[in-house]
Amino acid sequence: MTFWTKKFPSDLLKEVARKGWFGTVIPPEYGGLDTGVTGASIVTEELSRVCSALSEAYAVSMFGGVEQVLTFGTEEQKHNWLPKIAKGQIVGAVCITEPFVGSDAAGIETTARKEGDNYVLNGKKRFITNAGLADTYVVYARSSEKKEDKDKYQHLTAFLVHRGTPGFSVEKINELSGWIGLPNGSLDFDEVRVPANNCIGGEGAGWKVMMAGLNFERVVYSSAMLGPMRESIRNAVAYSQRRLQFDKPTIDLPTNQAKLAEMMSGLYTCRLLVYHAAHLLDEHKDAIVEASTAKMIVSDTYERLISDAIQVMGGDGWTRFYPLESFLRDAKVNQIGAGTNQVMRLVIFRSGLKAMSKDLKMLRRQIHKKLGVPISTTEPASKQDITEENILTMLAEDYLANPGLYMTREDIREKLTEPDDSKLYRTLESLESKGLVKLYRGRKGAIDLAKATYGGLRKAAPLKEYKWYPEWLNKDFIF
Ligand SMILES: Cc1cc2nc3c(=O)[nH]c(=O)nc-3n(C[C@H](O)[C@H](O)[C@H](O)COP(=O)(O)OP(=O)(O)OC[C@H]3O[C@@H](n4cnc5c(N)ncnc54)[C@H](O)[C@@H]3O)c2cc1C
Repeated sequence: MTFWTKKFPSDLLKEVARKGWFGTVIPPEYGGLDTGVTGASIVTEELSRVCSALSEAYAVSMFGGVEQVLTFGTEEQKHNWLPKIAKGQIVGAVCITEPFVGSDAAGIETTARKEGDNYVLNGKKRFITNAGLADTYVVYARSSEKKEDKDKYQHLTAFLVHRGTPGFSVEKINELSGWIGLPNGSLDFDEVRVPANNCIGGEGAGWKVMMAGLNFERVVYSSAMLGPMRESIRNAVAYSQRRLQFDKPTIDLPTNQAKLAEMMSGLYTCRLLVYHAAHLLDEHKDAIVEASTAKMIVSDTYERLISDAIQVMGGDGWTRFYPLESFLRDAKVNQIGAGTNQVMRLVIFRSGLKAMSKDLKMLRRQIHKKLGVPISTTEPASKQDITEENILTMLAEDYLANPGLYMTREDIREKLTEPDDSKLYRTLESLESKGLVKLYRGRKGAIDLAKATYGGLRKAAPLKEYKWYPEWLNKDFIF
C-alpha cells in the first residue's frame, strides 16, 4: 500500500507502539521489555518484511533517544523520557548530518551557545529520517570553538530537542529514490532555546554519545535489511516454481538454483553477523568492529541478493507489481546511511588493528640452524647490549630472515638487555651518520624503523654469510 500511496503507515507504527515494541531495549523499571539489542533487531527484521518506511521509522526512533538517554542520561532524563518512548508516545530522530557535514561528523557547524540555564541552537541539519514525524530529536551541536576541545573531541554536545520548540522547523522534505513514504528532510534551528536539562551526557560529551549510539544504530540498521532479503528469496522461489520455460519450472534451471543458493547463504551469513553483533552489545562488549562489519557486509550482500532475485524472476521482477525493484532502490541508501561503507572500512581498519593487536604482533623470524632457512619462532630472543657492532649485527641477521624489511623499534628493543631508548637512538643515529644504517622517522620525528645499508651489511659480515642456495640447484649456476 505505502509503495503506491506514498503515505506513511501511521496505523502500523501505532500498532507497534501498542505492542510495546518501542521498549525492546528499555529496562522494565522504565516501562520497557528489556529484550536488548537482539530484541530490537528481531522486531526491526520482521517489520522490514512489511515495509521499509515502517522499519526505518521504528529503527531510527530507537537510535534517536533511547540508546543515548539509556547510556548517558541522568536519572531524571531516564524517568522523563524512557517510559514515553517505551509506550511509543514519542517517536525519535537523530540529527548529525548537515548541508556541509557528512562523513566528517566531527566538523558539525550547528552551534550551541550557553545562556543561563539554556543552550541556544543555531544551524541546519540535513537528510534527517523521521523529520516532521518525530516528536524528539537528538541534535548534535558545536558547543566549543577551542582548539584543545576539538583536539580531544570535546567540542560537541548532544541535546534532546522537542517538536514545537520556537525557532525549530522543518525546512524541506526530500523526494527519495527509495524508502517510499518515509519522511526524510532538512531541519532549521533559529535561536532555538533548549533547557540545559535536555543536554545528554553533559557539555562536550557529544562525540562520545554519538559514537556509542552508532554501534547500536549500525546493528539495528543492518537488521532492517534482513526482511527484504527474506522476502526476495520467498518471491524468487515461489515465482520460479510457477514459471515454465523450456518445458520445466525455471527453479529447475541450474543457474537459477545457483543464484538461490547464493542468496540463501548470503542471508544466513548476514543474520549471523547481525545477531552476533547484537549479542555482543547486549553483553556490554565493545562491538565496534562487529557492528561496522555487519553494516558493511549486510548492505553489500543485500544489493547483490536483491539483484539476483530479480534476475531469477526475469522481467516481472523489475516491474513495480512485485516488491523487489523497490528493495533494489533501497540498496543504495543502505550503503550510505549510518556511515558509508567506505567509512565503515576506515572504522574497521582502525578499530580492527586495536581489537586484534594481540594476534597481529609479528612472530620473530630467525635462520634455522640446521635448515639454514628463515622460520618463525616464539622462543625468546637472545639479548645484547647496545653497541654499534651489536646493533649492526642484529640488523644484518634480520636481513637474512626478512630481506626487504626494516626492523621496528620494538623488534630491536626485544633483543636488548637494557631498555634505554635514548642510548639506542644515539647509537642508531651514529650508525646512520656513517652510512651503515638507514632510518625511517615517523610523524612525530621518532625513529620508527631501521635497516642496515648495503655498506652496513658488508661491514657486519662477509658475503659468504649471506649466501644460500637450495640443494636441488645445479651447482653450475652458482658463481
Ligand atoms: C535516506 C537517508 C537517510 C539518512 N538519515 C539520516 C539521519 O536520520 N540522521 C543523520 O544524521 N543523517 C542521516 N543520513 C545522512 C547519512 O548518514 C550521510 O548521507 C552519510 O553519512 C554520508 O554523508 P554524505 O551523504 O554527506 O556523503 P559525503 O560524506 O560527502 O561522502 C561522499 C563520498 O565520499 C566518501 N568519503 C567521505 N569521506 C571519506 C573518507 N574519509 N574516506 C573514504 N571515503 C570517504 C563517502 O563514502 C561517499 O562515497 C541519511 C542519509 C540518507 C541518504
